[in-house]
Amino acid sequence: MENQNIKVEEQGDDEGAPMAGEVLEEEGEIGSSLTMERVAAAKQFIESHYKAQMKHIQERKQRRSVLERKLASSDVPEEEQINILKDLERKETEYMRLKRHKISVDDFDLLTIIGRGAFGEVRLCQEKKSGNIYAMKKLKKSEMLSRGQVEHVRAERNLLAEVASHCIVKLYYSFQDAEYLYLIMEYLPGGDVMTLLMREETLTETVARFYIAQSVLAIESIHKHNYIHRDIKPDNLLLDQNGHMKLSDFGLCKPLDCTNLSAINENEVLDDENLNESMDVDGRFPESGCGRRWKSPLEQLQHWQINRRKLAYSTVGTPDYIAPEVLLKKGYGMECDWLAYWNETLSCNYLSDIMLYV
Ligand code: ADP
Ligand code: MG
Repeated sequence: MENQNIKVEEQGDDEGAPMAGEVLEEEGEIGSSLTMERVAAAKQFIESHYKAQMKHIQERKQRRSVLERKLASSDVPEEEQINILKDLERKETEYMRLKRHKISVDDFDLLTIIGRGAFGEVRLCQEKKSGNIYAMKKLKKSEMLSRGQVEHVRAERNLLAEVASHCIVKLYYSFQDAEYLYLIMEYLPGGDVMTLLMREETLTETVARFYIAQSVLAIESIHKHNYIHRDIKPDNLLLDQNGHMKLSDFGLCKPLDCTNLSAINENEVLDDENLNESMDVDGRFPESGCGRRWKSPLEQLQHWQINRRKLAYSTVGTPDYIAPEVLLKKGYGMECDWLAYWNETLSCNYLSDIMLYV
C-alpha cells in the first residue's frame, strides 16, 4: 500500500505528466478493474491523509489562539505567559511524536503459544510500555494471499474494530510487517468451549443453560451490527476470567447488505479454503447428503466424543455445523448462524445432555 501511494504521489507532483488512468488508457488497459481499484484506493488514501493533516494544523492553531486570548485577558505576567505558550508547543510536539510512533511487534514481549489457527498462531504477549497482557493473533500474509483470504481478514479486523460489545473479543491494535498481520486482542484465560466440553464431557443442565444464553447473546450482538459469523462452533467461543463467554474468530464473518438480506450469492463460501479447513480430518463432509440418519441422543453423544477427540489433535473444525442453505449456494442470511449454533448444541450435547438426563 505504501509503495503504491508513493508511486501515485510522484505522478501527481508533475502537473504536466499524464495521470495513471491516462497512461493505462493509451496502453489499452483502462478496463482493468484491479488497476482502477488501486488508483481509487491510492486517491482515497492521499485525500484522507492530507485532510487529516490540515484538520490537525487548524486545530493546533485554534488551541494556541484560545490560550493566547485567555492569557491576554488574564493578569498573568508577560514572562509567565511566554512560558505557558512554550509549554503548549512542547506538549503539541510530544503529542505528534507519539502519534507518529507506529506500533509494531517489537512493542510486545512474546510469551507462550495459546492456540493455533488456519493462518498462524495465537500467542500470549505483554506490551513492554504498559505491562498489559494481550492475545496476539498472527496471520501469514503470503498464506492468505495464495488462499484468497484477504477479504476475510479485512472483514475480521473491521468487525472487531466496529463492534464494541462485552459479548465479543475486544481488539486493541492491528498492524502489519512485511510478512505478517497482527491482531492484538484481549486475552481470555478461560480457554475455548471445545476444551471445556472435552474436559467436562457432560455439562449439567444449569451450566448448559448458562452457556446457551451467553452464546445466544454473543451471536445476537454481531447480527445487530449486520454481520454473519459463519463459523459458529465451540472452538470459537472463548471464556473470560469470570467464566463469561465471548465470541471470537471472525475470519469467516460477512457484512450483510441490509437492502439485500434475502439472497447473498455465496459461491465464495464453498470455494473457501477456510471452510475446507473446516471439513473433517478426512477432508470430506461426514454424514452429509442422503446418507445421513438421525441418531439417538446416546449415539450423538458417542459420535461427538469420538469426533471431538479426533479434532482436538488437529486445527480443523467440522462441517457438521453448516446450515443447509449455505451448502445449497443459493444465498442465505443471518439464520445460518442459528442453524450452525443448533447443530453445535446437538453435536456438543449442550441440549442432548438435557434431552438425555432431564
Ligand atoms: P482461527 O481463525 O485460525 O481458527 P482463532 O481466532 O479461532 O483462529 O484462534 C485459534 C485458537 O486460539 C482459539 O480456538 C483459542 O483457543 C485461541 N485464542 C484465540 N483468540 C484468543 C484470545 N483472545 N484469548 C485466548 N485464546 C485465544
Ligand atoms: Mg477458530
